[in-house]
Amino acid sequence: MRSLRGTLTVWYTVALAAAVLAFGLTITVLQRRAAVLAQEERLAALAGRVSGVLAQRAIDGHGPLVDLSFAPRIRQLRIDVIDQLSLIPGLVLVLDTTGSGVYGSPEVQRLTVAGTDLLRNRVASSRLDQQRFAITLDRTDYEFVAQRAPARTPSILAVAVGEPAIEAGASFERLGTSILLVLPLILLCAALLGYILSSRALRPVSQMIDELEAITDGRSLHRRLLAGALQAEELARLSKALNALLARLETSFDAMRRFVADASHELKTPLMVMRAGVERTLTDPKTSPEALLPLEETLVGVRHMTELVDALLTLARVDEGRMELHREPVNLGDLLAETFETAQILGEEAGVDVTLELPGGPVVVDADGGRIRQLVMNLVTNAVKYTPAGGKVWMTLTGTPQAATISVRDTGIGIAPGDVARVFDRFWRADPARSRTGERPGIGLGLAISKWIAEAHGGSIAVTSRPQRGTTFTVTLPRQVAEPGLPAGAASAVIES
Ligand code: ATP
Ligand code: MG
Repeated sequence: MRSLRGTLTVWYTVALAAAVLAFGLTITVLQRRAAVLAQEERLAALAGRVSGVLAQRAIDGHGPLVDLSFAPRIRQLRIDVIDQLSLIPGLVLVLDTTGSGVYGSPEVQRLTVAGTDLLRNRVASSRLDQQRFAITLDRTDYEFVAQRAPARTPSILAVAVGEPAIEAGASFERLGTSILLVLPLILLCAALLGYILSSRALRPVSQMIDELEAITDGRSLHRRLLAGALQAEELARLSKALNALLARLETSFDAMRRFVADASHELKTPLMVMRAGVERTLTDPKTSPEALLPLEETLVGVRHMTELVDALLTLARVDEGRMELHREPVNLGDLLAETFETAQILGEEAGVDVTLELPGGPVVVDADGGRIRQLVMNLVTNAVKYTPAGGKVWMTLTGTPQAATISVRDTGIGIAPGDVARVFDRFWRADPARSRTGERPGIGLGLAISKWIAEAHGGSIAVTSRPQRGTTFTVTLPRQVAEPGLPAGAASAVIES
């Protein structure tokens, strides 16, 4: 599962990396453009210097600039002019009006003949007073500024000064290396910063999740999320919306609970009246024998309904937190012996052998005897009900100074591994298709109530089962009440069913 924090961190890092790259690229482009402009200015200044030297030397009275005295076929500037021009760096070329190169700096002289010709033609064809051009000579790119010769030097056509061009590739390469060096560091910082920022931004959300997770069932619906003044606007709205939802849920839960409680309460008395009436008619000698069977069937139905209504009322009260435990010291050995008698009767009817195993001494716990009896009866009834004839059921009690353990084991049909976790759910039955009044009648509330009873006593209930081999339910009850001074029954208000 992807976490929002992780996603935000990744996006933050990606965005920052992209921003850094874009920034680096922009800086490089701008830098390059500035360097090109600076180079142009520098070349123009150098060309100006060349023109200046020529203009100055043309009027110094030492004769014509282009000296033909050595060899008439070689056109060349006067030696003193050459000396002065040789101080100017770069590729310097001076053309006279015949188009011949009358001065070439050492770098120009190093060019091949083809390169020199190309340059000369390009300079000779420049028509503007000052012109910048790029040219490739002998496979190297150069930038040149060519200027028309000053008016005072009629024998000279143009001067040109050049330098190797500023390579775009090199500056981008430099950018690449520096980014490669710095980027991992930037990414690390970005990831760290992104993580911290998103954690901070999401902290109220996880707080909200914690608060919501604490609302586990119908009884904690009265809780509300904290809507702090410091909360971001969106989260404040979310809290408000969730609180409104909780309020609506609480109202409908309350209405539902009240309905179940009222309905089961109202049904109790008429059911008792019906049951008493049917039982009286059954035992009345004046009742005709044909009516006995339907009356017995009615009685079974009425008993079943009474059980259902009792269970519903119990759970409705548990949900309302109105179910109280009446704790007193209970000798579990005696309690198990009593339930064992009933279990034996049940076992005899079903052809199941029930055995009781008690420890030597008494095991006394501070508990609600009635409720513990109900719990044990639920387990034993189940064990007998879900064990075919010929099977066995064991009721065992063990005790340590800290806890008492009651276990009910059977050799019955067992529970499928996938269903084990659901047996304590309300109304859950392994085979819902089976009629509620048929072979193994039941409502599916017995274990839900048993679980509540165990937990309300600060204990627990666990189940292990193997299909077709048998099932063991184990109830553990603490022997000391957890907190001294806690009023009897207070546990029911804290324990959730
Ligand atoms: P009732 O509410 O009348 O007790 P029930 O017995 O069906 O009805 P629970 O006692 O809550 O309901 O049990 C739930 C289900 O768990 C049962 O329907 C049954 O499928 C399964 N179960 C419970 N105890 C055993 C057992 N000892 N062996 C096999 N399955 C069991
Ligand atoms: Mg049951």
